[in-house]
Amino acid sequence: MKVAVISFEYEGNTFSLTRAGRGEFERRLLAFDGDVLTRTAGRALAVTAGCEVLAAAGIGILPIVAAHGGSGGAVEDGFFDEILAHVERRLREAGPLDGVFLALHGAMVCESHDDPEGELLELVRGIVGPDAPIASSLDLHANVTPRMVGNADILVGYETYPHDDVYATGERAARLLVRALRREISPRLAIRRINGFVPVIGGATAEGPMAEVRAMAREMERAGEALCVSYFPVQPWLDIPDIGICGLAVTDGDPGAAELAATRIVTAMWNRRRDFYLPHHTAREAVQDAAALPGPVLLSDSPDCVGGGSSGDLTQVLAALAELAPDLDSAVLIVDPAAVAAAGAAGVGARLTLDIGAGKDRRFGGPVRLEVQVEHLGDGRFSYDGGPMAGPSGNMGPCAVLRHKGIRILAATHPTYDYGDEQFRSVGIDWRQLHIAVFKNPMNFRNLLRPDTTWIGVSGAGPTAPRLEDLEWHRKPRPFWPLDDFETTPFLDS
Ligand SMILES: [Zn+2]
Repeated sequence: MKVAVISFEYEGNTFSLTRAGRGEFERRLLAFDGDVLTRTAGRALAVTAGCEVLAAAGIGILPIVAAHGGSGGAVEDGFFDEILAHVERRLREAGPLDGVFLALHGAMVCESHDDPEGELLELVRGIVGPDAPIASSLDLHANVTPRMVGNADILVGYETYPHDDVYATGERAARLLVRALRREISPRLAIRRINGFVPVIGGATAEGPMAEVRAMAREMERAGEALCVSYFPVQPWLDIPDIGICGLAVTDGDPGAAELAATRIVTAMWNRRRDFYLPHHTAREAVQDAAALPGPVLLSDSPDCVGGGSSGDLTQVLAALAELAPDLDSAVLIVDPAAVAAAGAAGVGARLTLDIGAGKDRRFGGPVRLEVQVEHLGDGRFSYDGGPMAGPSGNMGPCAVLRHKGIRILAATHPTYDYGDEQFRSVGIDWRQLHIAVFKNPMNFRNLLRPDTTWIGVSGAGPTAPRLEDLEWHRKPRPFWPLDDFETTPFLDS
């Protein structure tokens, strides 16, 4: 038996001004054909798990592509076309295949495609035919569409957020694929969607509404309602027409049961939608509150989450620190290639005045002018302790630590995904020794929390604004939750 392996992962954000082309993928992961196996071996990726499960089952692998571009604005059409052309060429050259394993994020957008994964799966199905099972792992924040479901047999979403089961999800999808290849099961896949979003900030799967949804999905599987039940609170920063929170189920030969299970799980999420809201503060309120508390206080700068697609150069929190608490020991990361270059030219120890931040995105506040001293210069390479990118893959490009009174500004050339505090530690900043530490994410900072850690959530406008009501929506037609309320459950596709 021979199975093709394709991974093409990217989380889109239509409120972000950034664009992702070949360079953004090359900086993280871009491998073709035989290089796919060597570049992904031993990693915590879903594609690694897929290859290992298939190999252990004695199934031949045709590696085609492994591409991971992180998160940001639209993927450039030219790069998307390049990947699809490569997939098409390799699948056609291969001749008859027994199945296909994919690792997708599920919430990619391109400059002129709202459903790139649907397009990719349709292409694959068109070549391998209706009888070769197609399985894919998906991120918990996938925007699963009927087109994706119509061109796949098995789709499995992550169980956890923060995401620490990327590899395990690849395993689950690949194991079901192996059973389908051996004709032990006949997978039937169903999707059910509801016309709304829930805030990411309240979506932790260890507590609150998503912990209940997660437990329910596992219970449904144990009770035999489905082989696999997945829930998708969806990447909410996508202003596209066809999107909503989603439930998915795979059953053995029973499409009616799959539909019922998908409906049950998405309804469970919808019924808890109000529980996803957490208390939030403006940047100024958060800094004032943090200054009044004993440190260390962790600020979650949700509106500028790089892992959710923001540019990492928003300045609301830096501006509030400089104005309200400049003498307290604090640290904040800002993407600013120009500041890094200026610091590099001046050298360690030099003093200079810089306009910091807001180089890419000035819609939510301008740069902050500060007199700083260059404390450290580095190449920006670091190692992730865990999560999907675990290992020495971190690369924020040349970086500089700039000191303004008590504030340490870690200026980076490229935006990078936050897992824990790896970026700060790589330049010698121990946030637990500070009064205030700013992390640009609404969720992964939880990886750092100890029982006694105080944290404050920052709200406000930005490409990853925690309150979806704070964004301007143009393409998603009204009404939709939470901008509008509904008397009955607003199912999509019904
Ligand atoms: Zn996610």
